[in-house]
Amino acid sequence: MTHLTSARSMRGDDPMGSVLSTVGAEVISEIARSRALLAFDFDGTLAPIVADRHAAAMRGETRALFRAAALLYPCAVISGRTRADVAARVDGVPLVAVVGCHGAEPGFGPLDRALVRRAASWLPELEAGLRGCEGVEIEDKRFGIAIHYRMARSWPDAERRALAAASALAGATVFRGRAVVNVLPQEALTKGDAIASLCERLGARAAVYVGDDRTDEDAFRSEAVAVSIGIGEARDSAAAHRLPEQSHVDDLLRALVRARMEQDGRGTRWEGLVRAMRPFPGAGGSPLVSERPAGHR
Ligand SMILES: [Mg+2]
Repeated sequence: MTHLTSARSMRGDDPMGSVLSTVGAEVISEIARSRALLAFDFDGTLAPIVADRHAAAMRGETRALFRAAALLYPCAVISGRTRADVAARVDGVPLVAVVGCHGAEPGFGPLDRALVRRAASWLPELEAGLRGCEGVEIEDKRFGIAIHYRMARSWPDAERRALAAASALAGATVFRGRAVVNVLPQEALTKGDAIASLCERLGARAAVYVGDDRTDEDAFRSEAVAVSIGIGEARDSAAAHRLPEQSHVDDLLRALVRARMEQDGRGTRWEGLVRAMRPFPGAGGSPLVSERPAGHR
């Protein structure tokens, strides 16, 4: 990558600590200078992980900071949820794109109906294979299928059955998530493909990607991603930088907002901008996400 190469050279430095010591003031400053595309995963990245997946939401402060960041940089969300589901949760943030289903459900352009037909053809087979499996829920995401087993009495048993049923499907890629087995068409686009195509469409010279889970690794490894930031304990991750906890995403957003405003010569006004992005007192707090967002089936 071009002018953000120095970001890559910092890979591996100081894996713990504050945003500025992990990501580095210099990198933040370079991101601000290049007006890079900022792309984020949703669950575990912008929003804390919660037991009930229908209840996942950004904290009010994250929402305010993200709204401010999206006025200053092109911002996108790339989630494993369906596009409609995650779009409802980032409502009010002026994003350039929302990509669903781990990259498979594009943020713009024509949809690949063949992928949708393939995923639909798997449903009866999965329903038959998992009949009588208590606490297991099959979610039709159109571009893929998620088999959730958080409510199952025995997670190992439920996961075994879900993996067995999913592995029997023709043309499927099967992978685990948090209390979920994901099934996608083998030729579905990944989060890495999604970022590359977003950069091309937007003419963005570089991208920053922040994520916490397995499919985020595809984005971390993408040539289009100049600055990769993983959240949580580093397992076997390709991310160059790490934020130790999800709550630190606020510090990252704050640093990016501040750096961009400073470079515009409006440094002293950054706090005012973030304040303006917070809901009015008494307005009922952050916008509520309905329990089952539009488009969720
Ligand atoms: Mg995640």
